[in-house]
Amino acid sequence: MAKVLVNEDECNGCGICVTECPSEVFEIKGDIAVPINEDECTACMICTTECPSDAIEIEED
Ligand code: SF4
Ligand code: SF4
Repeated sequence: MAKVLVNEDECNGCGICVTECPSEVFEIKGDIAVPINEDECTACMICTTECPSDAIEIEED
């Protein structure tokens, strides 16, 4: 299982991670991406690649 971290200072709420994550891990809450479904993360790294603000960090166990 991976840990999904969003840097709230860097996230601009664009929602790209919501659209691009195949496991539907993210939801936008209050203009910031929140990992609501962290258990489903497969560490595919699509979100870290696609995030324009470099705001997401995936920590693999
Ligand atoms: S893609 Fe990056 S900047 Fe956009 S909502 Fe997700 S974490 Fe925030
Ligand atoms: S690494 Fe892949 S599965 Fe995990 S949150 Fe990012 S896009 Fe979703």
